Amino acid sequence: MGVYCMQCGTALPTGALFCSNCDTAVHAAPSGAPTPLSRPLAGRQIAGVCAALARSYGWDIAAVRVIAVVITVLSSGLMGIAYLAAWIGIPADAPGAPGVYPPGV
Ligand SMILES: [Zn+2]
Repeated sequence: MGVYCMQCGTALPTGALFCSNCDTAVHAAPSGAPTPLSRPLAGRQIAGVCAALARSYGWDIAAVRVIAVVITVLSSGLMGIAYLAAWIGIPADAPGAPGVYPPGV
């Protein structure tokens, strides 16, 4: 699986740092294992689905929650069903696991 330039869509060799077509810096995948998707025990509002997404993808948790609420309203509750599915589908952290989110709370 190759890398594609975010600017012009040119297919690039894996590991490329700059696009050979437009010289845009390619956003390389972060090295190291991604944070596994699991629901934190701390920092939850409902079931920790937003916190899980924010932690796993490095998003701002407040932004994730605001977007989730907006989508819930706009989708007439369909997002609520997706939330329930994520609640069921995303495992919770093991009790006592390190790395609670957000840190310091
Ligand atoms: Zn390009």
